[in-house]
Amino acid sequence: MTRSDVDILVAGGGVAGLTATAAFASAGFRTLCVDPVPPVTSADADGSDLRSTAFLMPAVDLLAGAGLWDRLAPHAAPLRIMRLADAGGAPGIVRTSGDFDSAEIGAEAFGYNLPNWLLRREMVGHLGATSGAELRAGVRVTGLTPRTDAALVALSDGTQARARLVVAADGRDSAVREALGIGTRRWGYGQKAVVFTVAHEAPHDGVSIEIHRTGGPFTLVPLPDRDDGPASSVVWMETGPRAAALAALPEAEFNAALAARACGVLGAIRLTSPRRIWPIISQLADRLDGPRTALIAEAAHVVPPIGAQGLNMSLADLAALRDLVVGAADIGAPELLARYHRKRHRETALRVAGIDALNRAAMAEPRPLRDLRRAGLAALHGLPPLRHAAMRLGLGATSQARAGIPGAD
Ligand SMILES: Cc1cc2nc3c(=O)[nH]c(=O)nc-3n(C[C@H](O)[C@H](O)[C@H](O)COP(=O)(O)OP(=O)(O)OC[C@H]3O[C@@H](n4cnc5c(N)ncnc54)[C@H](O)[C@@H]3O)c2cc1C
Repeated sequence: MTRSDVDILVAGGGVAGLTATAAFASAGFRTLCVDPVPPVTSADADGSDLRSTAFLMPAVDLLAGAGLWDRLAPHAAPLRIMRLADAGGAPGIVRTSGDFDSAEIGAEAFGYNLPNWLLRREMVGHLGATSGAELRAGVRVTGLTPRTDAALVALSDGTQARARLVVAADGRDSAVREALGIGTRRWGYGQKAVVFTVAHEAPHDGVSIEIHRTGGPFTLVPLPDRDDGPASSVVWMETGPRAAALAALPEAEFNAALAARACGVLGAIRLTSPRRIWPIISQLADRLDGPRTALIAEAAHVVPPIGAQGLNMSLADLAALRDLVVGAADIGAPELLARYHRKRHRETALRVAGIDALNRAAMAEPRPLRDLRRAGLAALHGLPPLRHAAMRLGLGATSQARAGIPGAD
C-alpha cells in the first residue's frame, strides 16, 4: 500500500483547513491536507459558497503569519464600524441604532471582509507555491488508527498517511471526531439563513450593519465596490419556513422584501447573486483532543452567524495549537493535546453560550422581549465603558494588545 509520511495531516480543506495547512507548512511542518470536494474557487461555479468571511484582527494576524495576508489584502474590504440597529416595531423602520467605531479603541479597523470563493482561490494558489504543503482534493479520511508515535490515517483513494498529528478540520459532521468516539452537544433554533450579495445606492463606508427584528438579524457586510457601484454580502436569518419562502420568491418580489427588511439604510438595494440557505445550529464537541488528534473549527464548535465569530473562533483554535506545537519535541503528545483542550474548550464553551443567548434575544417575538432587546442595545451603546468592553470582546486579545489597551494579554 502506498503510504505518505508527514508531520501533520489536516482533514478538511474548508477555509479553516486550508489556513491550518498554510500555517503549519510555514512553521516548517510537512503538512498534507485532504478533502473529498475540490475547492470551489469562482463566484459563478456550481456549488459556489456565496458567504463571505469577516476576519477580525487576531485572525488577520494569523493569516499574515501563515504568509496568506499579502495575497488576500488587495481583495479585502475593511470594516471600520459595526452598526447595530433594532427594527422590532413597525416594518421597515429602524427604532434604535448604535455605532461601535474601531477608532474609539485605537484600532484602524475591526477586520476585513472577503468572499469565501476568493479566499479558497488565493489559499489554494498559495499552497501550490509553498514547499512542505500538499493539498489532495477528491480524497476523504475513511479511518484513523492512533499509535504511540503517530496516527495511521486511511484515505479514500486506497492510500494511507502516517502523521505525528492529525488536525480535524472536517466540518460539523467530522468523520475524524466520529472515528475517535468524541461526542457533541447540538441544538437548533428552527432558523435558517438566506445568504446572497447585493448592490446598493449609498456607499457602505466600511460600516457593517446588523438590523435586528423578530426571526433573526439581517446583516450587511461591506464588499469591495463592483464596477457599477457599492456592494455588500448579506446574511438574512429567519424562521425556517420563512427563509425557504424568501429563497424561492421570484426575483422582483424578493427585491421588494429585501428593500423592506434593509429599512433603506443603504438606499435602493438589489440582489446580485443566487440565494443559498444555511441551517442555523449551535454545537460543541465534548473534547477538543483525542489520541494524536486535535479538533479545530466546525469539527469542534458551530455557532449562529452573529458578530462574525465562527471562523474567527476557528482561527483562534489554530493559533493556540500552532503555538503549542512549534518547538515541541513530540507534536502529538497526549499532554500537549490535553493542554490544547484546556486552553480552548472553556473559552469556546463561553462563546457558544454567549452567541446562543444573543441569537435567542435577536429572535424574540413577544413585544416586551423586543422592547428589552431595544433597551439592551441602547444601554450597551450609551455607556462608553460597556461599549468599549463589547468591542474588545469582539476584537480579541491580540488586537487589544496591539491597540495598547490596558489589561490586554
Ligand atoms: C451564513 C454564514 C455566514 C458566516 N459568516 C462568517 C463570518 O463572517 N465570519 C466568521 O468568522 N465566520 C462566519 N461563518 C462561520 C464560518 O463560515 C464557518 O466557521 C467556517 O466556514 C467553517 O469552516 P470549516 O473549515 O470548519 O468547515 P467547512 O467549510 O464545512 O469545511 C469542512 C471541510 O471538510 C471536508 N470534509 C468532510 N468530510 C471529510 C472527510 N471525511 N475527510 C476530509 N475532509 C472532509 C468538507 O468537504 C469541507 O470542505 C458563517 C457561517 C454561516 C453559516
